[in-house]
Amino acid sequence: MTSQDDLTEYDQAREQMVRNQIEARGIADPLVLAAMRQVPRHLFVPVEMRDSAYRDAPLPIGEGQTISQPYIVALMTEMLELTGEERVLEIGTGSGYQAAVLSLLAREVYTVERLPTLARRAEELLYQLGYHNVHVRVGDGTLGWSEYAPYEAIIVTAASPDIPPPLLDQLADGGRFIAPIGPRWTQTLVRVRRKGDKFHREHLTSVAFVPLVGEHGWNEGDSFLRRLLG
Ligand code: SAH
Repeated sequence: MTSQDDLTEYDQAREQMVRNQIEARGIADPLVLAAMRQVPRHLFVPVEMRDSAYRDAPLPIGEGQTISQPYIVALMTEMLELTGEERVLEIGTGSGYQAAVLSLLAREVYTVERLPTLARRAEELLYQLGYHNVHVRVGDGTLGWSEYAPYEAIIVTAASPDIPPPLLDQLADGGRFIAPIGPRWTQTLVRVRRKGDKFHREHLTSVAFVPLVGEHGWNEGDSFLRRLLG
């Protein structure tokens, strides 16, 4: 098969993904749909998984971590109500896929990853693919990234028992925050909207994310145990 054929097949698979998994489940924001149509998800998964990249499922990306299911990426992105002007903070860079989607819908994306190998790989790929408004940092994202705060939107793509307080401190007035919150194996997507000093919380849907490991998340031992069992 020529690389031209490959390209076309992935493009077709991506179009099917958007129609059958994302539009069909009610995602309607045209900007979100356009971004999901554009980002080449197959380049963000390990080479041997490329043919599975457009399936309706999360996939392993190494180091015991996963790239989220396409629908969940689209849903969380839509919940942030981006217009193109925002500074967005993402916690949990992983493959860099969610950051790439966000980068098409916001002015700047700041993303924090705890594991240096994943952070470096994502940073390099995002740069190669031309997503130059994404800034990657290695560190404990439960502390946020105070240097560029406040953020009009904050998304956490790993699960914690409670909302890490530093993240709400770094949310701009009028800003939107979204994260999977709850116990180990299943959580609820929680959206918080800031109005001055008030934080309005909404509970959306059930999800299952890998753990957020850090000062305001789970501790390292929990993570090891989870990997051992999972
Ligand atoms: N958004 C990613 C998927 C993230 S998987 C994507 O599009 O591919 C969750 C990621 O969160 C993992 O890479 C994990 O290492 C990272 N993570 C866990 N705890 C973290 C923390 N305290 N700070 C930053 N990243 C963290």
